[in-house]
Amino acid sequence: MNTQQVRTRFAPSPTGYVHIGSLRTALFAFLYARHFGGVNVLRIEDTDQTRKVDGAIENLLQVMQALGVSFDEGVVLDDDQLKQEGEYGPYIQSERLEIYKEYSQKLLDQGKAYFCYCSPQRLTELRAEQTALKKPPMYDGACRYLTQEEREQKLEELELQGLSPVIRQKIPKDGITVLQDLIYGEIKYDNALLDDHILIKSDGFPTYHFAVVVDDHLMQITHVIRGEEWVPSTPKHILLYEAFGWDAPKFAHLPLILNPDKSKLSKRQGDVSLEDFLSKGYLPEALVNFIAFLGWNPKTEQELFSMDDLIANFDLVKVNKSGAVFDPVKLDWMNSLYIRQKSNQQILELVKPFLLDAQVKIEDYDEQFLLAIIEIEKDRLKILADITKHIDYYFAVPEYDSSILIWKKADAPTTLEVLTKLENHLKTFSEEQWFSLDMIESSIKQWIGDNGYDNGTVLWPLRVALSGLERSPNPFELLWVLYKKGQTAEDIFQRISQAISKLG
Ligand code: GLU
Repeated sequence: MNTQQVRTRFAPSPTGYVHIGSLRTALFAFLYARHFGGVNVLRIEDTDQTRKVDGAIENLLQVMQALGVSFDEGVVLDDDQLKQEGEYGPYIQSERLEIYKEYSQKLLDQGKAYFCYCSPQRLTELRAEQTALKKPPMYDGACRYLTQEEREQKLEELELQGLSPVIRQKIPKDGITVLQDLIYGEIKYDNALLDDHILIKSDGFPTYHFAVVVDDHLMQITHVIRGEEWVPSTPKHILLYEAFGWDAPKFAHLPLILNPDKSKLSKRQGDVSLEDFLSKGYLPEALVNFIAFLGWNPKTEQELFSMDDLIANFDLVKVNKSGAVFDPVKLDWMNSLYIRQKSNQQILELVKPFLLDAQVKIEDYDEQFLLAIIEIEKDRLKILADITKHIDYYFAVPEYDSSILIWKKADAPTTLEVLTKLENHLKTFSEEQWFSLDMIESSIKQWIGDNGYDNGTVLWPLRVALSGLERSPNPFELLWVLYKKGQTAEDIFQRISQAISKLG
């Protein structure tokens, strides 16, 4: 039995916001490590200094923290300060340049890598020629077999132009490289078709391909879990492991994420950034549950999985090869279920920032009133921000056009009569009645029956009088909530009087 401890890693480039796809990769690496009692490492891949964004690492870690994806080793956030923890550091690639230099030297010494002195201009021309001949662009190996003398001469020429050489991997000219992917199965590559790609750039920085292999090896990563877009790079990585004489880790490439129409997932930041989802009021637990299902399926009926459920059930064997559809409608549905699982008090705390943003002066109101609003509105919330769509009428006496007061089968005089009489009836309510939604409903229904009215003739104008809208919660709910505003029916009578004067 293999008792090697599982070590996974998430290795983002700090280029800005956190994409849905990145979170899926991070989540799967985390779940796999947790499921097998392993270690999850965070390594920052910042060798492309041009793409680096200040504050991106802190932001990334905050998003991960909000979602409950944690790291045991590598770059961590401690009291808002970035720190590195673990015995295989540094965990930020730009701090590991000496290591890459040392390892590239090993390959040079063994003849498994070589300096390339070709100028950018020559490479551009080469690429143009190959493209014109409809051949895949590939380095032609011009510097692969140079003599010592030729090398010195080429170096001199390059330096005269103020340039430095790069280091390329000497890919075997024949043979087959086999990737045994845990998700995609066996994929074979003809070495002759692989490029002598660059390992160290002219600025001394490693390429992603070189750094990823050196680091995954030195950090003793056992499982490389990453997006499907890295499959074509993997044979080069495997050949690098072979060149060093190292065992390669296991690879698991995760399926593409698609839009519902099966096109590749939108790149528009607002549609795919976790920061935006969180700020609109998607709950972290809903996002995690939803994203876990992008490519993974526990093969049971259960759809709601807490983080603990996910850890208990997760395995790479249950990850599919086919593209995973990102369905925003399903996310909304799942989010609304998670909202409903919370208590009214918890929902109130969660929606407070949205209410404040909408200029609602929540501190002016009784908490019982705010909780009553939540009780009535929570089933309508897909995201927390939705609360602001539904609440104006609770706080202020509504403005509306008098024409909407009259139910389609009634007329103005009847409506006026009904509201006047109903107002008197409501004045007889005791405090106990006002506090019970059931009693409000049964008393009004009884009154309608006793007076021989149609439900619509009464309930329609009552609802409009209270909400100013043709669509809103039913009038019993509105009465029940509005009474809680200051524990008096004053506001309610003000609204009914307004309707009566609009009709009169
Ligand atoms: N830095 C790469 C990225 O941001 C990591 C790929 C990998 O996991 O090997 O996608």
